[in-house]
Amino acid sequence: MGILFAISSYFILQQSYGHLTKQQRSMNMSRISSTETSPECQLRIALFKLGYRYRKNVRQLPGKPDLVLKKYNSIIFVNGCFWHHHAGCIKASIPKTNKPYWEEKLKRNINRDYANLQQLKDMGWKVITIWECEINQNFALTLSNVVQYLHNEQM
Ligand SMILES: [Zn+2]
Repeated sequence: MGILFAISSYFILQQSYGHLTKQQRSMNMSRISSTETSPECQLRIALFKLGYRYRKNVRQLPGKPDLVLKKYNSIIFVNGCFWHHHAGCIKASIPKTNKPYWEEKLKRNINRDYANLQQLKDMGWKVITIWECEINQNFALTLSNVVQYLHNEQM
């Protein structure tokens, strides 16, 4: 219940930006550099505002996880749909030119992701994979799912 309250107040906070004048808003936007607006950054910033602390791009762990939340024994990967070949996703379609090359390359990526995932699980980590399209389509839902996963002991 506390978590849901935190999430809803986060979104109320976001919506309150709607009351700013156009000038104020563009000032706020200009403080955010273009690299900070990727889906991964969006998720990271929201989690931080909700009070979650993490390390990012941890090289010492298999697959260099995007976010590591030690307190929750959890790892979050935010995967690009094309490079990590999100099954069934429209953004994961294989280019028509040089198809065998792409098939081979993406198959290697899938296998590598799977191996990393297994390794992390064997090490006792809870691994959460989020896809960029999920964040783009429904950020609020994705965020609340992530928070629920973090607090779920059963994964
Ligand atoms: Zn996708």
